[in-house]
Amino acid sequence: MLRTVYIKTYGCQMNEYDSTRLADLLRESHGLTRVADPALADVLLVNSCSIREKAEEKLFSDLGRLSEWKGLRPGVVIGVGGCVASQEGEEIRRRAPYVDLVFGPQTLHRVPALLDDALARKPRVDIAFVEMEKFDALPEPRAEGPRAFVSIMEGCSKYCSFCVVPYTRGQEFSRPFDDVLAEVASLAEQGVREVTFLGQNVNAYRGARAGGGTADLAMLIDYVNEIEGIGRIRFTTSHPLDFDDGLIEAFARIPKLVNHLHLPVQSGSNAVLARMKRGHTVEAYRDKIARLRRVRPDISLSTDFIVGFPGETEEDFAATLALAEELAFDLSYSFIYSPRPGTPAAEWPDMERAIKEERLARLQAVNLAHAQSVSRAMVGRCERILIDREAPRGRGDLSGRTENNRVVNFPSPRRDVIGRFATVEITQALPNSLRGRLVAVETAPASSILTPMAS
Ligand code: SF4
Repeated sequence: MLRTVYIKTYGCQMNEYDSTRLADLLRESHGLTRVADPALADVLLVNSCSIREKAEEKLFSDLGRLSEWKGLRPGVVIGVGGCVASQEGEEIRRRAPYVDLVFGPQTLHRVPALLDDALARKPRVDIAFVEMEKFDALPEPRAEGPRAFVSIMEGCSKYCSFCVVPYTRGQEFSRPFDDVLAEVASLAEQGVREVTFLGQNVNAYRGARAGGGTADLAMLIDYVNEIEGIGRIRFTTSHPLDFDDGLIEAFARIPKLVNHLHLPVQSGSNAVLARMKRGHTVEAYRDKIARLRRVRPDISLSTDFIVGFPGETEEDFAATLALAEELAFDLSYSFIYSPRPGTPAAEWPDMERAIKEERLARLQAVNLAHAQSVSRAMVGRCERILIDREAPRGRGDLSGRTENNRVVNFPSPRRDVIGRFATVEITQALPNSLRGRLVAVETAPASSILTPMAS
């Protein structure tokens, strides 16, 4: 009899969300409890990601390790989902015949049926693109703390020349507006105070409304702003093309929309952006940021860069460095370009690895300097955080996140404040987090009434 499931998740927040929902689903269908140790699991699942380099090799080496559990404990079921599963399909079972089920991002709701087939010794591969069926079939979400992801759209129709998402997740499709509102309301009732709307291209959201017509992301934020208990709203990941005036106005009028935006620019060179098929220029990106900063002068910005894209010259790269200096991002995620099979750019001549690495190091030095200077400038300031858990490294500290998504750890003897908004004074900037001193805790969800705390 199956009792437990272990899910290893790679990649983006969409995959984390999918894994959480998969665990919800298997709890409901087969009574499985999610465990963090594969040694304790009857069902071993890998939710794969194909964005990074050598994703397939990593997956097969993981599967090799997991197959040892099958040798030790006959009856263990092994499954693979996510974007590599979507890309490789039957090839996974050909290379790893001990895998019992393969599912794609759009068929994870069919995993209970695939699991039953696996138990009947009928291994199956199901990587169809069935869009809304998945969301209709998932159970009510179960909150795991005061922060929650809510997937509002999936797929992408932009077809950037380096990206596999349109091939692995399919075309853009949005969940119905009223379904999203119902999910957020349910999470708020369970104690969630911060929601992050997810989508590969989240600001392309166009959700059908029950009464007719569609809602865009700005309208969704307006409605979620009214849901009792929700004190903070985030969204990721946005595409500059769809970052429109409606969203800028939402930042102007909705304080619950956090003072942070992640807007990938990818390159500071128009020539590279054109080859990437991004559909925007550096000037258009800069203009949107300037207009956003007019309504939120101190907004925190983060971005993504790809370094060493095919044909990137030293001048192109210098333009990227200059843009990173000019816009002084709070946080930047920069990656070396690596060809993804099946994408147009994979057919183009790749650059020498050493050049890419050298450019990445230069860009990361600039980005790190900006990130550290933002963190250092926060020292001495009071910040509003959502206390979301006990700090992982012991010492009895609690942990929360600022509006600009930095982790703050601080001492507190109280555990009943987890899930509440609080004010902390930042006392120290560390490389990956901040330390703080608790000043006050808000008495009620999203309330502005403060209870002074002893220091
Ligand atoms: S917009 Fe994002 S998800 Fe879509 S193809 Fe481009 S990089 Fe990939």
